[in-house]
Amino acid sequence: MSLLKVNDLKCRYMTDIDTVRAVDGISFEIEEGEVLGIVGESGSGKTTVALGIMGLLPENTAVSGEILYRDELISSMPESRMDRVRWKDIAIVFQNSLEVLNPVLKIGVQVTEPMIKHLDISPEKARSKCADLFRTVGLDPEWMNSYPHQLSGGMRQRVLLAMALSCDPKLLILDELTSALDAFTRRDIRDLLLDLQKKNGYTMLMISHDLTFVSSV
Ligand code: ADP
Ligand code: MG
Repeated sequence: MSLLKVNDLKCRYMTDIDTVRAVDGISFEIEEGEVLGIVGESGSGKTTVALGIMGLLPENTAVSGEILYRDELISSMPESRMDRVRWKDIAIVFQNSLEVLNPVLKIGVQVTEPMIKHLDISPEKARSKCADLFRTVGLDPEWMNSYPHQLSGGMRQRVLLAMALSCDPKLLILDELTSALDAFTRRDIRDLLLDLQKKNGYTMLMISHDLTFVSSV
């Protein structure tokens, strides 16, 4: 049984002026422990695929096809059940950390929030887990007391990675994780990912326009 199976997924954005065929029949499977790369030019529908898997496409999207997680059809799951799949089974790291992170909330608060909600643990336990996660992704836990703008782009991507790992997901989707970063930081994050994958056997769907980066993984 594959961990994730996408079958003939089609997504069309219906706007007032026209219909955008963002995804037109993509099919793929990911086995447990596997790293799969999806590479394509900007605007080719990669983020739409990721949002489709997460059940986060905007309402004006016409979706067809099937998405199965461990043989369970998640593409037509009610929102309340999908909310449990997100974070704990499938977690995503989005490309634009400055838009994803709340500018007026300390980073530690933002990373502990999903843990308190989804793992049903106390705020103290979540904070100590958060510190561990920060160490895992190569950040000093001191940064938990900072605001997003006080960190560099590479550090913020590490925070998003820590957040995505916080509920021990089985599948990690990385959407342009390193695209906004300089070459050195990109290499550091790639090494971190390889290390994490080796240690924990994460299953990853790596989405990028950067063929060199994806093939180096
Ligand atoms: P990629 O991630 O590969 O750059 P996207 O999945 O973001 O591509 O976008 C695919 C296409 O869908 C693009 O043409 C984009 O302009 C269009 N698109 C994305 N989001 C929306 C939306 N909410 N409404 C209308 N069109 C959209
Ligand atoms: Mg994209």
